[in-house]
Amino acid sequence: MDFSSLQQFKNALVDHCVAQGREFKYMKNDSIRVRIKCRSEDCPFVILCNKVGNKETFRIKTLVGDHTCARVFDNKSANVRWVKQKLLNKVSTMNKISTNEIVDDFRVNLGTGITRYRAWKGKQLAIEEVEGAIEMQYTLMWRFSNELRRMAAGNTCKMNFETQRSTLFPRFSRFYMCLEGCKRGFLGGCRPFIGLDGCHLKTKHRGILLAAVARDANEQYFPLAFGVVESETKESWMWFMELLMDYIDPERSRRWVFISDQQKLMYV
Ligand SMILES: [Zn+2]
Repeated sequence: MDFSSLQQFKNALVDHCVAQGREFKYMKNDSIRVRIKCRSEDCPFVILCNKVGNKETFRIKTLVGDHTCARVFDNKSANVRWVKQKLLNKVSTMNKISTNEIVDDFRVNLGTGITRYRAWKGKQLAIEEVEGAIEMQYTLMWRFSNELRRMAAGNTCKMNFETQRSTLFPRFSRFYMCLEGCKRGFLGGCRPFIGLDGCHLKTKHRGILLAAVARDANEQYFPLAFGVVESETKESWMWFMELLMDYIDPERSRRWVFISDQQKLMYV
């Protein structure tokens, strides 16, 4: 079996050993080879993965795959890095998960016991990785907007930011996006009907996602525009609606039907 890096091999190996309920130790671990043997002294399990010639490929060269030792439950090979990797999806989709729940989850679903410390530390590292990534993504918003406009001149993107103090970095506050294809499709093939709603974003930085949808000739939903605002207020809805109406009916001369759960929108 080939791997693109030794790290990929090591990750796969931890998965394998945890699934088998066996622990391993490194006999050799450098930049071109990794030799691993079972932690139990008289067990023959051994695996060697090393670099192939001068290619960036790593291949398993030696493998004695069967263990003669017994299964262990509290697997020391299930290290913090592995726990973090397993928790990445969970912490990005679940609001809160306790250390005890993590320990239980690993016992039931992955068949291995981990210490509370390992569960806690793994969770901290996973949160750091996920939320660090989220903060970084806000800085990519300008590039994303530029790219959308470059692809089609009719794509509308609007981003607002706040400057708290001249010495601080500007802060993201609102975002609006409407694609040219959606506008054309709406004006060309949908009824003059717009459904509006907002939903809470469950990430660390919260906010509200606003959406405007239309219905096409087949009675299906037709996406029209999206926005992200700090909260659902009359002011934020107006900001969103003005941007939307500026394109679809700049003269405000046609009649439109809106459906919404917000009384604040009655002004339209
Ligand atoms: Zn063994």
